[in-house]
Amino acid sequence: MSDFRAEVRDWLAEHLRGEFAPLVGTGGPGREHEHVELRQAWERELGTGGWIGLGWPVEAGGRGASVEEQVVFHEEYARAGAPARIGHMGEQLAGPTIAAFGTQEQKDRFLPGILAGSELWCQGYSEPGAGSDLAAVRTRATLQDDGWHVDGQKIWTSLAHLADWCFLIARTEPGSERHKGLSYLLVPMRQDGIEVRPIVQLTGTSEFNEVFFDDAVTAPDNVVGEPGQGWRVAMGTLAFERGVSTLGQQVGFARELDEVAALAGPEHHDAVVEAWAGLQVLRATALRTLDNDASSSTGVEASVSKLLWAGWHQRLGELAMAVQGPAATLVDGGLSPLQNLFLFTRSDTIYGGSNEVQRNIIAERHWGLPKDRA
Ligand SMILES: Cc1cc2nc3c(=O)[nH]c(=O)nc-3n(C[C@H](O)[C@H](O)[C@H](O)COP(=O)(O)OP(=O)(O)OC[C@H]3O[C@@H](n4cnc5c(N)ncnc54)[C@H](O)[C@@H]3O)c2cc1C
Repeated sequence: MSDFRAEVRDWLAEHLRGEFAPLVGTGGPGREHEHVELRQAWERELGTGGWIGLGWPVEAGGRGASVEEQVVFHEEYARAGAPARIGHMGEQLAGPTIAAFGTQEQKDRFLPGILAGSELWCQGYSEPGAGSDLAAVRTRATLQDDGWHVDGQKIWTSLAHLADWCFLIARTEPGSERHKGLSYLLVPMRQDGIEVRPIVQLTGTSEFNEVFFDDAVTAPDNVVGEPGQGWRVAMGTLAFERGVSTLGQQVGFARELDEVAALAGPEHHDAVVEAWAGLQVLRATALRTLDNDASSSTGVEASVSKLLWAGWHQRLGELAMAVQGPAATLVDGGLSPLQNLFLFTRSDTIYGGSNEVQRNIIAERHWGLPKDRA
């Protein structure tokens, strides 16, 4: 075992116990309501241990860990059954964006809170009329003496109810259209001008929300990049979703597959073997994506990877129901983990870019097919 793997394993064994012992195996899709306060404390524990921002550059306060080390961390984290993260949008999206596009003052103000696990973030991109077509954003913001005043509505905002800050895109040039005239703002969530309404999901829980902005205010300096040039920054954020964590995610997938296989009768053996083979394909694809030199890549690898894992996971959810037989449809008190798996995996092919959108990206960027007219 490498020194680094041993360090991660030892730290987790030492810290994921005592007051944090109830967190083992908690959180995650459909279970986001579990032990929320304790998981917030766990974020701070990770921060104190220096495990947040592992791959961030040292000058941004991170550890500058190699991709291999980050993979090891995610694998060990999943293997230990450590809880689903609630600080990932700060660590994986807001932080890297601020480090890449922000001013020194913004870096000094925001990065330490993310690294310490003490400030949580949410992503305010989608709106009722702007999902796959993000350039249709209608939330607007105007700069007044005391700061940016934001009005509009975001939707499907994961963990907005826990977040201290939201990074969002708003139209700041009246009359502008599509990608032009948008700005990337950092907005404090705890203020009178913001109302967060939970949306109940198929699983009966609420991981995401509607967020209403009614004259919400943020300081004049809380715009990342030039005002009106927010599209470039917003796309920069999406590029950070490179997916080192997908290898950790696959350790979780393997555990789910084990649970499904344990219930499978002989009639399901072929399907279980197929799922196992699919998982090996996911791993090989993720490793190849991480190996790729970003400068020579057309960016389609992430789309291929997303299509593969979303489809695989959805089929696993279906198999999880099949192996249970008629009992799969009975609910006694609450959803079982496998019922939960089936229901939540319906969303896998939507969030992070739907399957259709991923196919458009592959068709246009890789195959050079004509642009989608939508
Ligand atoms: C669990 C979950 C968590 C989420 N968390 C967040 C979050 O934290 N922050 C945030 O901003 N958003 C979040 N989202 C929203 C997510 O990004 C959007 O749902 C997604 O971008 C799709 O947008 P939409 O729902 O408006 O669907 P639409 O864009 O309206 O799409 C509807 C259907 O039309 C298809 N379609 C759309 N355009 C095309 C096209 N050009 N060609 C072919 N087919 C097309 C789509 O594939 C889909 O099947 C979350 C979604 C889910 C499910």
